[in-house]
Amino acid sequence: MLDILRRIVQEVSAATDLGDALQLVVKRIRDAMHTEVCSVYLYDNDSRRYVLMATEGLKQEAVGKVGLHASQGLVGLVGAREEPLNIDNAPSHPHYFYLSETGEEEFLSFLGVPIIHHKRLMGVMVVQQRESRQFDESEEAFLVTMSAQLAGVIAHAEATGHILNIPTENNPTEKRQGARFNGAPGAPGVAIGQAFVITPVADLNAVADREPESIDSEIAHFDRALEGAREEIRSLGKHLSSELRPEEMALFDVYLNMLDDNALGDEVRAVIRANNWAQGALRQVIMQYVGHFQLMEDPYLRERSSDIRDLGIRILARLQGAEKHTSLDDFPDNTILVSEELTPAMLGEVPADKLVGLVSVQGSSNSHVAILARAMGVPTVMGVVDLPYAQLHGLEVIVDGYRGLLFSSPGDELREQYQAVFEEELALQNDLQELRDLPAETLDGHRIPLWVNTGLITDAVRSLDRGAEGVGLYRTEVPFMMKDRFPSESEQQKTYRQQLETFAPAPVTMRTLDIGGDKALPYFPINEANPFLGWRGIRITLDHPEIFLVQIRAMLKASVELNNLRIMLPMISSVGEVDEALHLIYRAHAEVLEEGFLVDTPQVGVMIEVPAAVYQIKALAQRVDFLSVGSNDLTQYLLAVDRNNPRVAGLYQAFHPAVLQALQSIVLDAQATNTPVSICGELAGNPLGAVLLMAMGYDVLSMNATNLPKVKSVIRGIERQWAEQLLREVLTLDSAPIVVATLQLALEKAGFSRIIGPTSSH
Ligand code: PEP
Ligand code: MG
Repeated sequence: MLDILRRIVQEVSAATDLGDALQLVVKRIRDAMHTEVCSVYLYDNDSRRYVLMATEGLKQEAVGKVGLHASQGLVGLVGAREEPLNIDNAPSHPHYFYLSETGEEEFLSFLGVPIIHHKRLMGVMVVQQRESRQFDESEEAFLVTMSAQLAGVIAHAEATGHILNIPTENNPTEKRQGARFNGAPGAPGVAIGQAFVITPVADLNAVADREPESIDSEIAHFDRALEGAREEIRSLGKHLSSELRPEEMALFDVYLNMLDDNALGDEVRAVIRANNWAQGALRQVIMQYVGHFQLMEDPYLRERSSDIRDLGIRILARLQGAEKHTSLDDFPDNTILVSEELTPAMLGEVPADKLVGLVSVQGSSNSHVAILARAMGVPTVMGVVDLPYAQLHGLEVIVDGYRGLLFSSPGDELREQYQAVFEEELALQNDLQELRDLPAETLDGHRIPLWVNTGLITDAVRSLDRGAEGVGLYRTEVPFMMKDRFPSESEQQKTYRQQLETFAPAPVTMRTLDIGGDKALPYFPINEANPFLGWRGIRITLDHPEIFLVQIRAMLKASVELNNLRIMLPMISSVGEVDEALHLIYRAHAEVLEEGFLVDTPQVGVMIEVPAAVYQIKALAQRVDFLSVGSNDLTQYLLAVDRNNPRVAGLYQAFHPAVLQALQSIVLDAQATNTPVSICGELAGNPLGAVLLMAMGYDVLSMNATNLPKVKSVIRGIERQWAEQLLREVLTLDSAPIVVATLQLALEKAGFSRIIGPTSSH
């Protein structure tokens, strides 16, 4: 069976037209199973109908014409139940629906299996036989396996716009919409544009080893290619320099360092001298690096391997004389850049005024590209693993960076919907701009400061534009990620100074290095079976006081004369960690004073991200000046749901009643000790969440800059009492979807449909 299956899949994948492919499938399956009928019915979501798209054994004239409503017939039953149906006498089944056009009444036995791709029902595959018998287990297993394969083929065909036009009842010539692919949100926003696929210009894997004719001329050839690649990276970096700050351009220095003579260059030359030609030597060295990083099994480091491969390909292209693949004019005005592995260098290839969206098959929201895209405000979807990206080139696509979705060849209706979202966003941002200098104050006079979360300096500058009143979370690991080694004390001091100066006299809350979990540094690999339960945040820095002390000293020195620094400790799970950290902070403060820097003792706070901390609020509060809830991690730990795992994304419910109870209890305990408490997880930037959090009594909400004006607009449009009443109601509910629906309804009724529109409710 396996052999037959493999052969069918190969044949089908080679077919260029989906109609041909389906016809081939039904023929091959009928033969393989020795049955009399095999048919495929595809489901059209818009018209909620199944249409017979291919058959061997039923009347051919019925193909494309005969259809069933979603719940009609045995086919409808298979689709609705999403499981196989294996019966020996179909016409006697209560769900049987006779389709006269097909001539199927002669067939008694029926085996139908649903065709499902990523939870989406695509259709139903059916085999039938005259004789009354049940298909046996191996036949059922074969058809189920076949249908799972077929689902992928259909999804690919949809993606490339080749989906056959399933005739709808009302309009038999209407074209079906293209496909939807799920990825992860990389940078918020919506973009509609033309896909421009960047494929590698050269193939490292295809390079063979070869003896050089002359070692010297190979080395000279390599040196020219290396210099060319260096020049290329410099110029790509320059293209981005109007978009990014010098600090962020440091990433390009990392690439140039990799291309340094002493690093990669020397290694390749050594291999050439050992009697390999330049191309072979390059392949060997690059693959060694790539393999080294890939072995670490850390998603972040795997992304670094993609940077190295990208550089290797650029050099190889020059060795092969095939370097330049695109000129600036080739890019359409509304380019959506698509690649298997987008790298920051690739961003530099597109003129900034033409780049409207980004899509990467590999990578996550922590990839460099995603971090830069957020800073540049380019909507981005990462990790679209199922995407047949090579076939997207030139097609119209929609990037939904809020939800991490990509649509190819959208139908008119979908395009109009997204166009409306796009225009609405633009109009809303413009309208909300007026709120910039107004306070976030409810109609009954309750004032709640709205702060921002930052990582890059570019974020900080954008935040001021949006009316941020302070920084509630500066993620210091972001500048660390842009380097190829730990930044020195003076480098850190410079970076931190920029943040503090940008906001002074408003407070800037700097979190001490929070690496581990899903955030690793390429130069400090951590390999663990359970990284989220392992060496993370404060646990690492307390084990490495030298890293911690350097960072604290840099923060303190950076705050000279500004005195707007607040220091925050991540991943605290016991009071001992706080005591130890405070001890180090006092020590660093004393050292800095000794060195002659006149700095006040900074405020120190603890992040509440681990459930254990929720139950120790009073003990923690006694030790520090403020508390700040990291609701992203708190939610993941309370619900035992990895926040980055798409398989369990549906279980990651920010509005889970347990999370809401924990959030409320944190504030009450903090208030009992008179300790200010803020929140800096994503929930604070969600208008629905912000209303609840304000009602709970949070003193400050800190969020991404994009959402700040929306939150402010809602706060300014409601009364605190109203929010408190809503909170009381919500706290009695026992399921997250009901909480979300209740909040949505309440805010819509209060006139905020426009604000809550495109914001993800999770
Ligand atoms: C959080 O966990 O909510 C948080 C703000 O920290 P991070 O998202 O950086 O882990
Ligand atoms: Mg966190």
